[in-house]
Amino acid sequence: MGDQPESLIIRPPSEWRSLLVRITRGCNWNRCRFCGIYPAMGQADFSCRSLTEIRQDIDLLIQQHPGIETAFFGDADPLAAGVEVFVGAARYLRKVSDIRRLTCYARASTLHKMGLENIKRLADAGLNRVHLGLESGDPETLQFHRKGQSPKMVVAVAHWLQQAGIEISYYVLLGLGGRDRFRQHVTATAKIINQTEPEFVRLRRLWLYGKDTDAQCPLWEQVRDGSFIEQTPEGTVLELQLLMHLLEPLNTFFACDHANNYLNVSGLLKDDRKDMLREIEDFLARPEEQRQAHYKMIGSRI
Ligand code: SF4
Repeated sequence: MGDQPESLIIRPPSEWRSLLVRITRGCNWNRCRFCGIYPAMGQADFSCRSLTEIRQDIDLLIQQHPGIETAFFGDADPLAAGVEVFVGAARYLRKVSDIRRLTCYARASTLHKMGLENIKRLADAGLNRVHLGLESGDPETLQFHRKGQSPKMVVAVAHWLQQAGIEISYYVLLGLGGRDRFRQHVTATAKIINQTEPEFVRLRRLWLYGKDTDAQCPLWEQVRDGSFIEQTPEGTVLELQLLMHLLEPLNTFFACDHANNYLNVSGLLKDDRKDMLREIEDFLARPEEQRQAHYKMIGSRI
């Protein structure tokens, strides 16, 4: 038994105070054109950890962080370790700690294969919320980027999660349709959000990292061959505006909670949608040079 737990490669910003438990290493899919993040950060392979290893890490983590209130399971798709391992880890964590919330990353395709009965078992074991990469509701955009999920699959999975009482936090990637497909990308994304009313929608913007390095975003290949044309910064803000226009007053918390976002609007759609829309419109009404200076000021990071 090591004296240090294994670390996650990435976690959602909202889990910065959580106990970070590694169930799997890397991503078992690793094909999304806009991502490639695990290989880029040194974790090219995928593997599942044993329940024994995970329990040992939980013991160490609890010793190091007594009194912690929330926990997060990673890496990219910890449910790929199988229901038995995941449920075993969740039950053990619940037994040896007083956490009030357990969340994880989850791929829609993995949840879809699992089915409603197994999703209910996850809820019984204490899983409260999943961070799910919706990215886009547009089937062509998803297919182009090899996301490995369809809008229909996401809708089915969202309903199962809701039946099981597990909260949903979607990630949406502005710019994913490129300049040619931004309207379809945003319109179809709004449709899925309206249809499924998740607890959270978190916005990100597409950023192609690592140009001309050994660890570069796979999408550079399509940018270079001309099959993908990157959205402009202003186009990204216009996408945000269109999305906000199309969203209904849902009981959904909307957040642009990443440093890459050009605008950081947030609020509950049913109460704050109009204010958020006004904030975006106020920004777009500023003089051109002010807007361009703002875009240049926003850093790009993973
Ligand atoms: S977006 Fe998620 S599923 Fe796709 S390659 Fe990246 S980590 Fe894996």
